Amino acid sequence: MPGCLFCNIVAKSTPAQIVFENDHVLAFKDIRPVAPVHALVIPRQHITGIHEATPADVEVLGRVLLAARDVAEQLGLAEGGYRLVVNQGKNAGQSVLHLHCHVLGGRPMAWPPG
Ligand code: AMP
Ligand code: ZN
Repeated sequence: MPGCLFCNIVAKSTPAQIVFENDHVLAFKDIRPVAPVHALVIPRQHITGIHEATPADVEVLGRVLLAARDVAEQLGLAEGGYRLVVNQGKNAGQSVLHLHCHVLGGRPMAWPPG
């Protein structure tokens, strides 16, 4: 989608520290990490957020989750555990309108989240 930051990262017109990619998804380091390990997994195709996803997106949504699992493994989080987060809309603080799954780890995390 024109003007979408994460579509530009997919197109490689905006640089990112890519840690994983396949035909369906891309993962890269978050530019403002909130944990010792903080990566984002995104579908290559533009989906604005989880609330805009449809049954046609079921495969890519599964691929995002499996890629998040692989990224967590690759970044050394398997043993200590990690958290996957999808922010949707205003109250959740979604700031980039291209679906992304945060992979957070490397420290204990509070529950409930803030
Ligand atoms: P959210 O608040 O859930 O929409 O998350 C968006 C995330 O994207 C934030 O954690 C930002 O730090 C991150 N972010 C914004 N711009 C970039 C960028 N150019 N490269 C990597 N991460 C980014
Ligand atoms: Zn996009």
